[in-house]
Amino acid sequence: MSKLGTKCVQAGYTPKNGEPRQIPIIQSTTFKYDTSEDMGRLFDLEANGYFYSRLQNPTNDYVAARICALEGGTAAMLTSSGQAANFFAVFNICNAGDHVVSSSAIYGGTYNLFNVTMRKMGIDFSFVTPDCSDEELNAAFRPNTKAVFGETIANPSLAILDIERFSKAAHDHGVPLIVDNTFPTPINCRPFEWGTDIVTHATTKYMDGHASGVGGAIVDSGKSDWLANKEKFPGLTTPDESYRGFIYAERFGKEGALIAKAASQLMRDFGSTPSPQTSYLVGIGLESLHVRMERHCKNAQAVAEFLESHDKVSWVNYCGLPSNKYYALAQKYLPNGSSGVVSFGIKGGRSAAEAFMKELKVAIIATHVADAHTCVLHPANATHRQLSETELIKAGVPSDLIRLSVGIEDVDDIIDDLNQALAAVR
Ligand code: PLP
Repeated sequence: MSKLGTKCVQAGYTPKNGEPRQIPIIQSTTFKYDTSEDMGRLFDLEANGYFYSRLQNPTNDYVAARICALEGGTAAMLTSSGQAANFFAVFNICNAGDHVVSSSAIYGGTYNLFNVTMRKMGIDFSFVTPDCSDEELNAAFRPNTKAVFGETIANPSLAILDIERFSKAAHDHGVPLIVDNTFPTPINCRPFEWGTDIVTHATTKYMDGHASGVGGAIVDSGKSDWLANKEKFPGLTTPDESYRGFIYAERFGKEGALIAKAASQLMRDFGSTPSPQTSYLVGIGLESLHVRMERHCKNAQAVAEFLESHDKVSWVNYCGLPSNKYYALAQKYLPNGSSGVVSFGIKGGRSAAEAFMKELKVAIIATHVADAHTCVLHPANATHRQLSETELIKAGVPSDLIRLSVGIEDVDDIIDDLNQALAAVR
């Protein structure tokens, strides 16, 4: 099985003779064993198997294995949200007193997680713009830097990360690059092929694809040699006293150590486990991911071109447009398409944007992006409504900005809807 479309449908779960065709929902908290010794071996991580769904569950693991195959990784796990995935990805390799270099163009929830909550846990962050020079990027590293973080396509700025440049800087400083690949999904970009070490996802978005369940995933490329940088990553290279003192990097090797630690230690302690029901829905969503992404991108390209040619639209941000600042990077990293998310401004500012929003009929108003339905948001009146005009500009979210997540409906209906709403703007 070498092609992405086949992996979407079949990877991760191969039923044996007489077993269910679809991934089974193992909705059970616990698993039964014949002897205490059998169970003891699981608690010592000496045998493979399930004992309690807070740590691991077969349904979750089948779906994680499908995402792992799509990304080309060696191990993966699901989490209860994209937030949990990014938290685990960073906290799995950082301790209090450590430091992370992060792109400043990241999802607001991730920015708060890093800049507020994880700082309270003693982890420091330096933010650099994805367009910074190599000198600025290298200057952000400190002796205690343990990771670099960025988003392939940033939400909501739609900036494209120069993954090769960021991975080179990370590796020159002996640390991994973590990339949140939520928007393009592995269908449009596989960050491991460009030097990324760890990939995260909010499966909530295109992977689930139908706005049905919040979830996340972490995938390891298996390329990080933790033991070669022993003193930098003590969590992986020194004994874990909570598991009788064994060392993850020695027990599970380069391919498995990172996920084994996150699953058996962080999941045990934080319990951000997805429900098997929700993971099942992600598995169903993945089966059509390759077909849906193609349609999302085709529709979004047509919508972006329509908006760019409309005389009531002042600007359009979509990396598939040759006029876009990130067009060249998108051609390199996302040659088959980026995502369905487009942002644009309406001439006349805030009041014009408000008038436009009132007229939409096909596009539904929602804070969500990246599912089958076309969704629209006027951030100045929703997620960013507490900010003043000056603060909105500083945040890169001017009051005329409309964020449109183009769905998989018939594109003519989407364009007609936008056209009639623009016509109503005076
Ligand atoms: N990463 C990106 C790029 C996102 O857009 C989001 C949510 O919008 C998240 C992470 C967080 O995911 P969740 O809402 O599942 O916690």
